[in-house]
Amino acid sequence: MEIVDHYINGKIAKLNNKYLDHCNPATGEVCSKVAMGDQETVDMAVSSSLKAFETWSKTAPIKRARILLKFTELLNQNINKLAEIITLEHGKTLADARGSVSRGIEVVEHCCGIANLLQGKFSNNVSTDIDVYTIRKPLGVCAGIGPFNFPIMVPVWLALPAIACGNTFIIKPSEKVPKTVMFLAELLTTAGLPAGVLNVINGQKPVVDGLLNHPDIKAVSAVGSTPVVEYIYKTAINNNKRSQTFGGAKNHCIIMPDADVANASEQVSGAAFGAAGERCMALSVAIVVGDRERHDAVVNKIQSCAKKIKVGSGLDSNSDMGPLITKDHLNKILGYIEAGVQAGANLLLDGRDIEISDPKYKNGFYLGPSIFTDVKTDMTIYSEEIFGPVLVVLQVDDYQSALEIINNNMYGNGSSIFTNDLNISRNFANEVTTGMVGINIPIPVPFVTHSFGGWKHSAFGDLAMHSAESIQFYTKAKSVTVGPAKVQVKQNQSSMTMPIHD
Ligand code: NAD
Repeated sequence: MEIVDHYINGKIAKLNNKYLDHCNPATGEVCSKVAMGDQETVDMAVSSSLKAFETWSKTAPIKRARILLKFTELLNQNINKLAEIITLEHGKTLADARGSVSRGIEVVEHCCGIANLLQGKFSNNVSTDIDVYTIRKPLGVCAGIGPFNFPIMVPVWLALPAIACGNTFIIKPSEKVPKTVMFLAELLTTAGLPAGVLNVINGQKPVVDGLLNHPDIKAVSAVGSTPVVEYIYKTAINNNKRSQTFGGAKNHCIIMPDADVANASEQVSGAAFGAAGERCMALSVAIVVGDRERHDAVVNKIQSCAKKIKVGSGLDSNSDMGPLITKDHLNKILGYIEAGVQAGANLLLDGRDIEISDPKYKNGFYLGPSIFTDVKTDMTIYSEEIFGPVLVVLQVDDYQSALEIINNNMYGNGSSIFTNDLNISRNFANEVTTGMVGINIPIPVPFVTHSFGGWKHSAFGDLAMHSAESIQFYTKAKSVTVGPAKVQVKQNQSSMTMPIHD
């Protein structure tokens, strides 16, 4: 039985004797025990991070970048090992896990340009012989709380920009996927990251609360379900910390009458059922614009794509979709499917029928792709985030009605449209109330130089991840005004009045 502890001050830290069982979702068997940190764990990590901040914050950005370059190399060398750890603890397929490591590496590559990203502003001669420059300073000890669905990508997205900016960072991964981040911390140490710059604490709410209430933590970022990250955001800002948190989603796509049915259906099926729908950018709602005939043509094609999806262990290269994360999560989704049936929606494809032939995996948490049609916006399968392989399909007569549905939804993470019409796609990009938009792209996770983050109840805080916004979030500005050592006092001007620029 593998034991997963904490990683504090450059090494594994064994602290109390409290552990939680962790299951392999593919087999349903308990495969490890995960340490459950407490206040003492938080205090120990914070004091290590505070100490490391003294030196790390003063280390030249180019020297920090050299460590990140080495780290990038190590991530690439270990991509298969990382993917295997992810698949074993999360369940997603190896190919999907490798893809998520790559999207993490892109952020590290971006952070390697930190000397450039941190460049300040300079204004010469704003008044006679006076210059002003603005510098950006790191905040101090920052903390991040991760979700289960991206065991490495999200922790990297949260921690690496903070570290590149000169902060030290404490990450609390999801207790459902604690192993990948431990390996990540080891790789960072191997790359030359000084002890204490990244600490990992495993645990649940008591650790999160310990971080939120610790006076020496200056910023808290989190990714998770909306109620949890709203709580984290509000508690952090009430405790006078900076905070940015990213929550749940209900991502819609519109399939316009001019869209190519085969292409749109293939894309929708992949985006709805990839990673078993356990992605914050998964497509969970398809709105077909057009009459019943058009609707049926589209849903039949989506259904035939979904029926080809092979469900099984993520380690099996024949699988397209792995299990769900836990038995509880599987049961929650089964509850939604039952609620959809009871509410009168048409269960066109029932994923509950799935059979896993290999006896080794018979107790895994598997569910096949499910599709509901004739869905109304007041049904819970539409209004709530399911976070599983369930696609709901709505039919409307025109584009404007489809747009209204999306804009009335409480979530605003991503949305997509399939069309050849430039006017419609341009209008959609401008008018839809989501933070990320795809035009003929089903999962519009933007490239790292552009902001990642939702609107409405999908994110809390003013700044997004990635791009210049994450640099802004993890640094504070200081403007310095520089004048000559000896000032000539002008006639009729007293040093007691408000200085003006002339
Ligand atoms: P979750 O909210 O259950 O847990 C997230 C983190 O918060 C975990 O580390 C967990 O230990 C901690 N936590 C749980 N309950 C807590 C509480 N009461 N107080 C304090 N901390 C608590 O989320 P999850 O199930 O791990 O992840 C899935 C959710 O994350 C989905 O809603 C998904 O949409 C969302 N997500 C969002 C994004 C995004 O960028 N918007 C990305 C990935 C996942």
